[in-house]
Amino acid sequence: MLRSGWLTTGLRARRFEEGIGRLVRARHGVALSSCTAALHLALTALGVRRGEAVLTTPYTFAATAQAIEHLGARPMFVDIDPASLNIAPANIERALRRQPKIRAIVPVHIGGLPCDMETILDLAHASRVSVVEDAAHALGASVGGRPIGSMSEATCFSFYATKNVTTGEGGMVTTNRRDLADRIRLLSLHGLSWSAGRRDARRASRRYDVVDLGFKYNMTDLSAAIGLAQLARFHEMQRRRRRIAGRYAAALSPCEAFDLPATPAGTTHAWHLYILRLRTAMLRAGRDTLMRHLADRGIGTSVHFLPLHLFSYYRRRFGYRKGDFPHAERESARAVSLPLHPGLSRRDQGRVIEALIDFARRFKR
Ligand SMILES: *Cc1c(COP(=O)(O)O)cnc(C)c1O
Repeated sequence: MLRSGWLTTGLRARRFEEGIGRLVRARHGVALSSCTAALHLALTALGVRRGEAVLTTPYTFAATAQAIEHLGARPMFVDIDPASLNIAPANIERALRRQPKIRAIVPVHIGGLPCDMETILDLAHASRVSVVEDAAHALGASVGGRPIGSMSEATCFSFYATKNVTTGEGGMVTTNRRDLADRIRLLSLHGLSWSAGRRDARRASRRYDVVDLGFKYNMTDLSAAIGLAQLARFHEMQRRRRRIAGRYAAALSPCEAFDLPATPAGTTHAWHLYILRLRTAMLRAGRDTLMRHLADRGIGTSVHFLPLHLFSYYRRRFGYRKGDFPHAERESARAVSLPLHPGLSRRDQGRVIEALIDFARRFKR
């Protein structure tokens, strides 16, 4: 890789784009520096402008809403479906009926469980709004036999360190629209009319034009080389994630203290996260006590996600308050993400399960 002398965007980035494109059955992929950049450019290329609104979920990472805000658009939250933790199509429908300024919808496939894309795409078409998926968790997921990444105008993937495929930092937009892919590629590198990938020796003297106000969002070949190596192991890594999720389900489903992640028929879960929820009526202790109980046994967990609208910036900026999105708030308060990564051994997972069952017994109401 280093001996090739080519470090920035080049042939490896192209091969990585083709590899991801094949995996998600999309015609085009544009490799970028992050999923945040992917969301920003996809929305920009679709023409979302200052003063317009973009529907999304408060149950997500800050990047989803911030990409919208960087366009000068307003992230308009609607509440989730508590069963899936994903944005509820019924709430999208209601918002579209009431708010004429909505230009796009950004659904997020939380933990790797696909949103109800068929309904969301139908609603979007009927109202002529764009759909840009935040698929940071959803590489390898599918719904109704269609891979996430192949369905809407633009789907954004993350290759951040913790995601199912990583390039250290990285992202990609997949799309079936050539015009959109070309526009995103152009905007990803200063709005130059040709990219470094085509700058071979013979064309070195060719001039470029700056045709638009662009960004510096391209993926390096250094990152893409890591991504290609990861991609070669992807199916094996996903098999391990599925096996781990299966073991959690088998061991914990008899336990009345917990609700397990939904796996509706016709969906393939990407198992980026295993989000367990406490049945608080059955327990004398809450989620934070469970996290401490696990931490005392050397088991690290986290919360995905604290609802965005309750962070100080979103309260200050948009005047959101506690109670605005009750499902997101209630589910977040009883959610904990269990260890789930391809390297988790059967023995270590056994210790996690044991600690969970011990907690359920000890704090049974
Ligand atoms: C990780 C993540 C992102 C951001 O991805 P980056 O590649 O770090 O920009 C966006 N949305 C969600 C839901 C994420 O988990």
